[in-house]
Amino acid sequence: MGEETDTAATPVPVAMKKAGPLGRSIDIYAAECEKCHKWRRIVSQEVYEEIRSKIREDPFVCEKKEGISCGDAGDLNYDSSRTWVLDKPGLPKTPRGFKRSLVLRKDYSKMDTYYITPTGKKLKTRNQIAAFIDANQDYKNAPLGDFIFTAPKVMEDTIPSGVPERTPKPSQ
Ligand SMILES: [Zn+2]
Repeated sequence: MGEETDTAATPVPVAMKKAGPLGRSIDIYAAECEKCHKWRRIVSQEVYEEIRSKIREDPFVCEKKEGISCGDAGDLNYDSSRTWVLDKPGLPKTPRGFKRSLVLRKDYSKMDTYYITPTGKKLKTRNQIAAFIDANQDYKNAPLGDFIFTAPKVMEDTIPSGVPERTPKPSQ
């Protein structure tokens, strides 16, 4: 359409249930159809990351889900029954064997990103990842630049009421 801004059309969101027994981690992945703007549930983090990594060149549409078209009802709605976070479009897929994990802070101010290694270690910085790859040559093909610590944006309008006061944003 030629008039895209970075805010509306392209972000790929992930949705989260309100804090539950499993904590504040992501339980649903979703993508918005470029044509009808319905939200489609994405079956797994892996598929989601695949879509996210090339969404600029290959926008998401309903037909990408097998047997689904724009005429079918959406899978979920963007509303405050869940907390939504928007991942940056175009982020690379998590290197094979690793898992990208995101946890929302208790005050909903931001998400923290870490990676779980194939051996189950939790790494919180790129330096730790570099050291791990250095020490575990089996994973030396994992591109360091594909480990992304940029957290998705927490959508203010989907934060449940009653969450303790957050640090006020600088006035605009
Ligand atoms: Zn559609």
